[in-house]
Amino acid sequence: MSVPLLEQLVEAFRVLPGVGQKTAQRMAYHVLERGRDGGRRLAAVLGEAVEKIGHCERCRDFSETPLCPTCASVSRDAHLLCAVESPADRLAIEQATGYRGLYFVLQGRLSPLDGVGPRELGLHLLGERLAEGEVQELIIATNPTVEGEATAHYLAQLARQHGVRPSRPAHGLPLGGELEYVDRGTLSHAFGSRGEMA
Ligand SMILES: [Zn+2]
Repeated sequence: MSVPLLEQLVEAFRVLPGVGQKTAQRMAYHVLERGRDGGRRLAAVLGEAVEKIGHCERCRDFSETPLCPTCASVSRDAHLLCAVESPADRLAIEQATGYRGLYFVLQGRLSPLDGVGPRELGLHLLGERLAEGEVQELIIATNPTVEGEATAHYLAQLARQHGVRPSRPAHGLPLGGELEYVDRGTLSHAFGSRGEMA
């Protein structure tokens, strides 16, 4: 006999971060008791999103098209490139600062013990990008964690190899914090007063 649908639904909700058994049960009952329309919409959009959203071939951010709208825009300053760990960090910077340059999304941070090396972060693509000669400053906005700092130093070396100036948002960001959770004012200030990496 197959697993009852209700159990499958609860199990399916548990793929979401921070959702344990109890919360998953509550979600499943909510959808069935009072949220069937919302449930249908969720199922449809979720199905379409996982099929159609890929990665921008230039910046590696999520995108429905080969080039994301930011990379395709002619009004962004192509001399500035900002490296971030995640799409959420990219969004935080975009919303908190007046940054008008372009981005490169690492989709992670260097973590040799977890098998995450330069290749996994697409650093060969970043190297090619820097070699094109258009980028003048690489703003390294990895998180102020141990792994984020190690990644920042690696990126700074890569930038210098290509004659690009590496910079880092000013200190003042909470140590060990994730950029996406830093308040807008702090992030905007740190980003605006970035200094060249030593
Ligand atoms: Zn892009």
